[in-house]
Amino acid sequence: QVKKEGKGGYRFCSDDQNRSSAERVRLETRLRKAVQNEEFQLFYQPKTDLASGQIKGMEALLRWPQPDGSMVPPDEFIPLTEDTGLINPLGYWIVRQAFLDTNRINKLTEFPLQVAINLSVRQFRNPELVIMVSDLIRETGINPEWVEFEITESMLIEKVDEACEVMKGLRKLGVELAIDDFGTGYSSLSYLRHFPVNTLKIDQTFIRDLSSDESSESIVRAIIGLGHGLGLKIVAEGIETQVQSDFLKSTGCQLGQGYYMSRPLPLKDFIKLL
Ligand code: C2E
Ligand code: MG
Ligand code: MG
Ligand code: MG
Repeated sequence: QVKKEGKGGYRFCSDDQNRSSAERVRLETRLRKAVQNEEFQLFYQPKTDLASGQIKGMEALLRWPQPDGSMVPPDEFIPLTEDTGLINPLGYWIVRQAFLDTNRINKLTEFPLQVAINLSVRQFRNPELVIMVSDLIRETGINPEWVEFEITESMLIEKVDEACEVMKGLRKLGVELAIDDFGTGYSSLSYLRHFPVNTLKIDQTFIRDLSSDESSESIVRAIIGLGHGLGLKIVAEGIETQVQSDFLKSTGCQLGQGYYMSRPLPLKDFIKLL
């Protein structure tokens, strides 16, 4: 059983396809209720200046708490919310909650932190996205400079002109844009010249393989060189060891995220960490 994946490749039996249809229906019903009752939680993972160790921002990461106290990670239910359209109300909740939390965080900090919010394909393609963000900026009173949206390369391959318009619309509101999981999308690099992005996030697979695989080191150096040459900020994600952190520092990568600095934390623990 194969399913076309957004990235243009084919993938066998993701978790989603292994589920029986009865299971899918049950999960969908539970998800629908969870969205209605706002049962979700945002965790925050710090984005750190590698040279100084200072926290410069945070990524909002979605969690679905269960009655037994466990948390379902997003990869296990976001695909289903995409298929069913539930991602639209859920996405609204995520953006609003991240704005409110960031306002709260920035009341406590010396200088403001920027929040990175992930957008999935269907959210990005929703014609209401720019209006929704604009309305939420107004409602919450957040400074749009404190906000960055993360999108993936695969969202930029099809309908390039439309994608560009959406990005421009968001940038006009004053928010920034990052390309997440950079280096895994099989897309042409030339798009980087045309799209109004501010940041590249180096995919964590390259960081993970740094010590075991010399080609990862070359790829990481190349991405950093490319990004800097284009005047973009670079974030390395998935940093788990001091060796990885030191290597990235030595290559001039300014910002990093990973378990080595901190796991994603519930808001109150993130505030404690600050
Ligand atoms: P992502 O945006 O690339 O997020 C990075 C993932 O790596 C997160 O997994 C994070 O917990 C994990 N991570 C961070 N540091 C390390 C590390 O040092 N080692 C390892 N092994 N992993 C690390 P998470 O939270 O499970 O999220 C998975 C994906 O789900 C995200 O990938 C993103 O694509 C999606 N996602 C998460 N939150 C949201 C959301 O609010 N909205 C949407 N649309 N997608 C989301
Ligand atoms: Mg992300
Ligand atoms: Mg990523
Ligand atoms: Mg990812």
